[in-house]
Formats: sequence, structure tokens, C-alpha cells
Amino acid sequence: MNTKEVIADLQRRFPNEPEYHQAVEEVLSSIEDVYNEHPEFERYNLIERLCIPDRIFAFRVSWVDDNGRVRNNMGYRVQHNNAIGPYKGGIRFHASVNLSILKFLAFEQTFKNSLTTLAMGGAKGGSDFSPRGRSDMEIMRFCQAYVAELWRHIGADTDVPAGDIGVGAREVGYMYGYYKKMAREFTGTFTGKGIAFGGSLIRPEATGYGNCYFLQNMLATRGLEITGRRVAISGSGNVATYTAKKIMELGGKVVSMSDSGGSIIAPDGLTREQFDYIFELKTYMRGRLHEVPERFPELQYHPDRSPWRLVQCDIAMPSATQNELNVLDAEALLAGGCFAVSEGANMPSTPEAVHRFIEARILYAPGKAANAGGVATSGLEMAQNSQKLSWSAEEVDRRLAEIMRGIHEQCVRYGSEADGYVNYVRGANIAGFMKVADAMMAQGVL
Ligand code: NDP
Repeated sequence: MNTKEVIADLQRRFPNEPEYHQAVEEVLSSIEDVYNEHPEFERYNLIERLCIPDRIFAFRVSWVDDNGRVRNNMGYRVQHNNAIGPYKGGIRFHASVNLSILKFLAFEQTFKNSLTTLAMGGAKGGSDFSPRGRSDMEIMRFCQAYVAELWRHIGADTDVPAGDIGVGAREVGYMYGYYKKMAREFTGTFTGKGIAFGGSLIRPEATGYGNCYFLQNMLATRGLEITGRRVAISGSGNVATYTAKKIMELGGKVVSMSDSGGSIIAPDGLTREQFDYIFELKTYMRGRLHEVPERFPELQYHPDRSPWRLVQCDIAMPSATQNELNVLDAEALLAGGCFAVSEGANMPSTPEAVHRFIEARILYAPGKAANAGGVATSGLEMAQNSQKLSWSAEEVDRRLAEIMRGIHEQCVRYGSEADGYVNYVRGANIAGFMKVADAMMAQGVL
């Protein structure tokens, strides 16, 4: 396999999909050596079969808004790979959604799910529908219209969707309800469900908490702790808020949060009261961060800015969206003394930024390792649903911490370099790849 040739071929066959090409290139460049040690992989043309999704569903979603106007959005589901388990991955509702973004996310998901050691393949879905400013009834009608198309392609042992940007417990509830009606069954299809109907305790918290557990493991390799550290976080959605909550519990100082309008900076760290307000505002009131200084004038709001160049920090945890941290941001973070980056979002750092972090030999955890706690806990939700049982919060949290420790261990095993530096990108990619590759080889050409 020659990474450059594979990428050139994908660019020719699937033009205008930059995020997909970016994600594939990042993985292939770190597994190329290992792949080439196995001539049987090449004989089976494994790499092409691993890069191109098994199948993609694309459909029109028509729904009626509150004014009686008919609206049309595009809906998608990318079923990337099911070599090690049923397709599994979230659904994203955001105006920016397109096939390039969903193909990159489904590709990444395949390796991430493999790293968790649970039996889950990779998938991703979504729509260019934006829930922002839509009423509850509009969101319900949209979710129902989306699932009216999707339901026949998913199932507890086929493909299990979950939430992502713009899809939280409310949207999962509406989608699961409609799925249940169409499929006439009450099974574990969809994770991130409400606790009353099969959801798992700790699932909402899992991605953010899991990232903090991963960070703890990573810091421990250098004898460091979170206590007293200044942590810059971007985003203020599901992943960002639970990351902030756990960082504060562990004694760290959260010096920033953001949304798509701008950033809130707290040079001395958010107080519990300030954080609780932000959590309420973003999670339940569906408000905007620019409203925060009205209540807490001591907090600075910077419109249209991400946090990275606004505040000095020891640790950065980008938790909003892809490519939100570029090389200039990386330079600013390094100049300010940042020694660890642990990604809550998927592919939030551009390739140039990642290169700078690794070149500077700081601790850098890519999203596919650091944010795998969300899907891992979805896997635990599937296990509970199969057994028709619910585990306690302590039990799920204990298993989550254990899984994150295991992922860290695999990264160290496959990513340690001659000088002792752990290249977590390489470690995560190789560990995730080997398991999927072995399963694909064993199952023949499909
Ligand atoms: P949410 O929709 O709950 O929150 C997303 C946050 O990011 C919001 O604060 C949003 O701002 C902000 N944001 C979205 N797009 C942009 C943008 N283009 N520029 C700046 N800010 C933006 O999503 P999640 O917290 O669930 O997901 C965040 C990231 O984590 C995504 O990359 C997702 O793929 C990844 N992830 C999520 C998992 C999960 O379990 N939920 C699991 C693993 C990864 P605003 O409020 O203005 O919209």
C-alpha cells in the first residue's frame, strides 16, 4: 500500500469530500508500515475495502413546519464497516452536514469502536436540518420523517444509531419512538435513550467523563495530575459540559467554554455557580453564551472567537467540532505552556496543528481514543438492553473508567517510540486497525 496513491485514487473517485480524504490520510499514513508487513492484506485489497463504506443511504426528508410550510432536507446513513459488530455511530443534525463529513465520521468511528474492545462496527448518519430555533413539535415531526425512511435499515443487531451534534436525549426519544412504532419491537436500537425506556445511567456524561479519564491516564505517564491545572475547553454542548463538570470535580480550573457564536473566558477558572448557569442555559434553555455576562459580568465574552488564542492554559480539550483548532492556535497554545491536548470532538485539530503538537512532544490524544467513552457506554447500554437489565451509575462509571484505561494501554503499546514518546495517533490507529483487519481477513471478500 502506498498512502499517496490510495488518497489520490479516493480523491479522483470521490471528489469534493475534503474531510473524508483528511481522515483517511491521517489513518493510512500511520498504519502504512504495519500494513505492508502483511502481504496478505494487499492480496485481499483490504485497504480499499476499509476506506470505502459498505453502503450509504441518502434520502429526502420532507416535513411540515409550524406555519404549515413544507420543508425538505437531506437525510443520510453511512454504514461503514461491520466486521467486528453491528454498525454503530451517532446521528448529526446541523446545517453543515454533507456526505464528506458523514463519511469521515463513519470511517473514524470504525477504528474508535474497535479500540473500545466491544463488538461494534462503524457508522454515522445525519441531516442538514438545523434544530436551532425550531419548536419541539417541529423537531418531533422532523425526527419522525427522518426515521420513516431509515427504520428499515437499522435494528438492534444490524445498525444502532445514537446522538451527536444537534441530537440529544430529546431527538433520540422521538426517533426511537417512531422506530418502535414502525418496527413493532422494543429493542436496543438507538442508544442515548431516556432512562425510563432502556437508556443507560452515565451515557449523557460518558464522552466528557471518558475524555477526563483518558487525560488522567495520559498525565500519569509523566507523573502529572489534573488538580490545579488550567483547562481550556471549547464547545458547550453535551461533550464540553460534562468534560468541564468532571475537570472541576477533579480539581482542575475550566478557563474557557464556547459555542458557535463565541467564547467565554474565565482566567481564574469558572466557579461552580457560573458553570451550573452555563449548563442550564445551554442544555435546557437552549440559550447562547453571549447571554452569560448579563448574569456574570466578571466573565469575558469574545464574539466569533474560539478560546485557543484568548487564554493561557496547561491543557486544551477541544470539544465542539471538526477542524476548530488550526496551526496558529496550536502555536499559541504551545507558546502559552500548554503540555496536553485531549480531544473531545472528532478531528477538531487540523493536520498541521496535530503535526505541531507531536513535533513539540506534548501529550496529544486524538478524538478517536480520547472521546471513545461515549460509544463505549453506548455499547454498555446495548448490553443492558439485551439482558433487559439496568446497571447502577457506579457500575457503568467503573466500566467506563476501565475501558478508557484499556484504550490508553493499547495506544501506549502500539504508539511508543524509541525515545519513549507515546504517539497516541499512531497507537490508536494501529490498535484500531489490526482488530478490524484480522476480522475482515477471516470473513473473506464481502
Ligand atoms: P452538541 O450539539 O451537544 O454541542 C456541540 C457544541 O459545539 C455546541 O456548543 C455548538 O455550539 C458547538 N459547535 C458546533 N458547531 C460549531 C462550529 N462550527 N463552530 C463552533 N462551535 C460549534 O454536540 P456534542 O457535544 O454531542 O458533540 C461535540 C463533538 O463531540 C462533535 O465533534 C461530536 O462528533 C463529538 N462526539 C460526540 C459524542 C457524544 O457522545 N455526543 C461522542 C464522541 C464524539 P452551538 O450551541 O452554538 O450550536
